[in-house]
Amino acid sequence: MASCFSINATALPQHHHGKVNYRSNKKCLGSVRNLVKTTGVASVVSAPQESLQKGNWVKLICGASFEDVVDIRNLSLVYTLAGVDCIDCAADASVVNAVNEGIEAAREIVYLRKPWVMISVNDDEDLHFRKAEFDPEECPLDCSRPCETICPASAISLHQHQSTTEFSHGTETLNLLKGGVINERCYGCGRCSPVCPYDKIRMALYTRDAAVTAELLKRKDVDAIEIHTSGRQTAPFEGLWDDLRNSTGYLKLVAVSLPYSGDSTISSMNTMYAMMEPHLPCLNLWQLDGRPMSGDIGRGATRESIAFAARLAAVEDKPHGLCRFTLLCIFCSHLWLILCRSHFPLNHTSEVCISPLYDVGFFQLAGGTNAHTVEGLKKKGLFQTTLVAENSKDNRSMPPSTASSHALIGGIAYGGYARKVSIYFLLVSLPFLKMLT
Ligand code: SF4
Ligand code: SF4
Repeated sequence: MASCFSINATALPQHHHGKVNYRSNKKCLGSVRNLVKTTGVASVVSAPQESLQKGNWVKLICGASFEDVVDIRNLSLVYTLAGVDCIDCAADASVVNAVNEGIEAAREIVYLRKPWVMISVNDDEDLHFRKAEFDPEECPLDCSRPCETICPASAISLHQHQSTTEFSHGTETLNLLKGGVINERCYGCGRCSPVCPYDKIRMALYTRDAAVTAELLKRKDVDAIEIHTSGRQTAPFEGLWDDLRNSTGYLKLVAVSLPYSGDSTISSMNTMYAMMEPHLPCLNLWQLDGRPMSGDIGRGATRESIAFAARLAAVEDKPHGLCRFTLLCIFCSHLWLILCRSHFPLNHTSEVCISPLYDVGFFQLAGGTNAHTVEGLKKKGLFQTTLVAENSKDNRSMPPSTASSHALIGGIAYGGYARKVSIYFLLVSLPFLKMLT
């Protein structure tokens, strides 16, 4: 189980320009420990898979396109101290290294169970996988640079530069803008483009390489993958899954992230599940993506994600997922948590099933999630209150007495909002953390 940050985001600076300067000073280790004591560290009582089942899973997102390894290491450190269940990052080896370094640095301060490390990939064009681009030398010098001000990641840096050219008739000095987008910091939110008065900014889309991803999945420090898909057509998903399926045996969780795209959404989810099922040896989770990369902009950003959850709760034929049950071995008396496919036959003569079967996947909100998301879920009666019936053929909401404890909504992922509230901790504490790495 993870707890949320308690810092009031509205009281925090909106931007932090430049990177944190580190100082190597061993005296500061005590300062960090004191700060952690004062700020408080989550009391982690459950493993990530249990959090999903209970409905209090928290995933924190570094950003599918955010690749600044210094900030990622620091964010992962803070997220681990916050007791999160999973940290989601770009599918890049150096980024994965940075996440794991942050986790280990946190565990040197306070011993906490390790959050799962998830890498995010896309099967086709997707807003999470893009970078802003422009040529600063084309920008008018008198531009007030709103692109720089609006960027939530401090990913645009511009400065005036004088260029002197020698000619036969003498020298000429030109003033130019230099700098531009800091590629590894841009996470593709797209806010800079519409504010440019001269229409200079383009958004360049890209797709993660499946072969590189397949290799990353084999790493011991990668626990999960998230596949971003549109949900409107399943052919790109099938192609990517074919490329990855031989590497999925190493994973604890496969997540599929998609927006609500109308009445066909649920049937698309079931089609994708049928594609995954023969090579899905672990838990699966559906990420209900509301309004991507907008959690830091205010209360209303979370509505779409909650609306997706409400639509899902209302349908009887919910998207399928791996079932799980507990077996008691009659010979050794040990409990075994078993994950299996929904039609796994219960014909083991040496074991007794003592917990229910599910064939409904886990669901988690994302996209615009922020401090108002839990409140919104509660208003809809979806926060750890809507339960899934044990009988897979009748998975409507049931009163607690007849239903299992498998929460319909497994949890929430926080991206931009989490980064915003983390800034306080990063600015206050991380100058002291260099000696831990
Ligand atoms: S797309 Fe977003 S993160 Fe990237 S430079 Fe523009 S405002 Fe910054
Ligand atoms: S707002 Fe547009 S024109 Fe102005 S500095 Fe930014 S990219 Fe250049």
